[in-house]
Amino acid sequence: MTRLSDLGPPKGVTVHCPSEAKEDSDFYRCETCGQIVDLKDIRQVMWHQFEGEHEPLELDS
Ligand SMILES: [Zn+2]
Repeated sequence: MTRLSDLGPPKGVTVHCPSEAKEDSDFYRCETCGQIVDLKDIRQVMWHQFEGEHEPLELDS
């Protein structure tokens, strides 16, 4: 039986995580007001989670 340690030291697992792809998943378009919502900003998420009528948020960036 081959022991795990016989195979040599554990290989470093590199998780490739392209920042571009990650950026894309941080945004979605609100179906109610059509604004792009930044999922990293909880205030925006909370605002657009309201399913009734709401205005696009004015962003103070
Ligand atoms: Zn909205």
